[in-house]
Amino acid sequence: MIIENKDKPIKKELLKDLPIITLQNIDNLDDEKKLCYICLKEYIIGDKVLALPCLHNFHPDCVKEWFKEKNVCPICKSELTEEKVYGPEGKEETPGK
Ligand SMILES: [Zn+2]
Ligand SMILES: [Zn+2]
Repeated sequence: MIIENKDKPIKKELLKDLPIITLQNIDNLDDEKKLCYICLKEYIIGDKVLALPCLHNFHPDCVKEWFKEKNVCPICKSELTEEKVYGPEGKEETPGK
């Protein structure tokens, strides 16, 4: 039996364009969002986290390591596609000045 390995790294541009937010409030987060699922450390207020389109958050450094090999969210396994990151309109082109 051959198990197909579909794992592939995320596109570098996608990773670069994911928003990094500073946590202002933790109490109102769902339990699974109160900690980084990669290093399993709980967030503290003021932590910078990288927010995926599926609304899961991770430490930027942790998730960058993860995304070297995979392009899915570590929690919900949803694939990070350009459409999810940029929306149906695609990436906004900034015209050169
Ligand atoms: Zn982490
Ligand atoms: Zn997710």
